[in-house]
Amino acid sequence: MTDIVAELREAIGAEKVLSSPVDLIAYSFDSTFEQHMPDAVVLPETNEDVVAVVRVASRLEVPIVPRGMSSGLAGGAIPLSGGVVVSLARMKRVLEIDEENMIVTVQAGMVTADLQAEVEKLGLFYPPDPSSNRQSTIGGDIACDAGGPRCLKYGVTGDYVMGLTVVLPDGRVLVTGGKTIKNVVGYDLTSLFVGSEGTLGIITQALLRLVAKPQSVRTALAEFPSLDDASRTVNAILSAGIVPATLELMDKTATACIEQAMHLGLPLDVEAMLIIETDGSDEERVVCEIEAAARICRENGAREVKVARDEAERITLWKARRSVSPSLARKAPNKLGEDITVPRSAIPEAIRRIKAISAKYGLPIVVFGHAGDGNLHPNILFDWRDPKQWEKVQQIVSEVFKVALDLGGTLSGEHGVGTFKLPYMEQALGPTSIDVQRRIKRALDPQNILNPGKVLPDI
Ligand SMILES: Cc1cc2nc3c(=O)[nH]c(=O)nc-3n(C[C@H](O)[C@H](O)[C@H](O)COP(=O)(O)OP(=O)(O)OC[C@H]3O[C@@H](n4cnc5c(N)ncnc54)[C@H](O)[C@@H]3O)c2cc1C
Repeated sequence: MTDIVAELREAIGAEKVLSSPVDLIAYSFDSTFEQHMPDAVVLPETNEDVVAVVRVASRLEVPIVPRGMSSGLAGGAIPLSGGVVVSLARMKRVLEIDEENMIVTVQAGMVTADLQAEVEKLGLFYPPDPSSNRQSTIGGDIACDAGGPRCLKYGVTGDYVMGLTVVLPDGRVLVTGGKTIKNVVGYDLTSLFVGSEGTLGIITQALLRLVAKPQSVRTALAEFPSLDDASRTVNAILSAGIVPATLELMDKTATACIEQAMHLGLPLDVEAMLIIETDGSDEERVVCEIEAAARICRENGAREVKVARDEAERITLWKARRSVSPSLARKAPNKLGEDITVPRSAIPEAIRRIKAISAKYGLPIVVFGHAGDGNLHPNILFDWRDPKQWEKVQQIVSEVFKVALDLGGTLSGEHGVGTFKLPYMEQALGPTSIDVQRRIKRALDPQNILNPGKVLPDI
């Protein structure tokens, strides 16, 4: 592959091309387990650099794998068949904050939390909040249509994307959407690229909608002896017309893991805990909403509800939820986190079935997630070095996906398909949907050079 490295250096300059074994290893994995070596890594600084790289790769028919911060949990940024990894890490500038129209234009490699901090200085707010926001980029979030705790009230990343600049697999630059709120001219190409996981084009810039920063926020934590009661409470809160910014659930196993690691004084005899947060610009209303939500919790079986009285107490209440992932790391050498979604009413049944799967295979599965939108994160704890355990994990994943589909849900609410969910795509979407998606892929990328082996089976 010396040719590709030489051609890339020629095209964009040697200082933007990496090819030493040490560098290549650093770009061979994402936040999952698989690893494949690329042949070269490029660090473009402009749209023109990206175009030049794509033209070289297209001419030599070499795979191209777009990459943000590699926090993906589905194998999407792994260079499965080698080729060129295109890291957007150097394209991380805010290009314009249009305060009047409340729209930001940003380069795709900007870290999500950095963008949020920038706009908040002006009293503006970019709500999509993947928990990985310090390790994920705007381009990666758009490519995966990332969500997070706040999505119940504010929606997912795709709801904020008003337009994109995308380098297509043949090197042409496509600009979609614009600053107008209404725009129904032609097919909605912006949406086509949201969630496309780097298989249709390289996103280099995005126009993102902003909202006014909420001035007030209140948080409550409720302990439920019964999982069914906790789940019923979620629906009762929403039916009462309260739309919390977040409505998070942690099951008993998650609570036990956190308590063992953090010693926060969490109760070990409750089946579920809910974390509820209300926010807005009218403080009185935000307070009324959290009090009403707390009352509904008590009426539906909560044993205790704590409402934070100040910011310090609020941080303490969130500490438990934020500690889930690090706590799991202490429990087992590896974890595989899935992110199925089910209709809200099916949450207790989904958790019961997942616990039965855990008992059947003898591996712990911790469940937490965004109860308000039915997005659950079953995390399987295991030891990757033990082949028998890895075999069991694969069987567990398949059964967990079946639970989601049987209950009217789907495979992923946030993390996307990558390579991990490929075998289940046909089952989840049916042959017609897969056929239409394959035709779109072939029309845009007839050489199949853009992130091959991801999202669509057998292409
Ligand atoms: C601890 C942890 C917590 C997480 N929490 C959440 C969560 O709450 N919600 C959630 O949704 N996800 C979560 N994730 C998953 C992950 O962070 C998101 O999927 C994130 O959006 C990926 O961004 P990235 O920049 O790291 O993308 P990468 O991992 O680098 O890439 C992900 C996919 O996007 C493609 N891609 C990246 N940049 C571009 C681009 N510019 N143009 C085209 N394609 C591109 C890649 O090819 C790949 O297919 C979490 C991950 C971790 C490790």
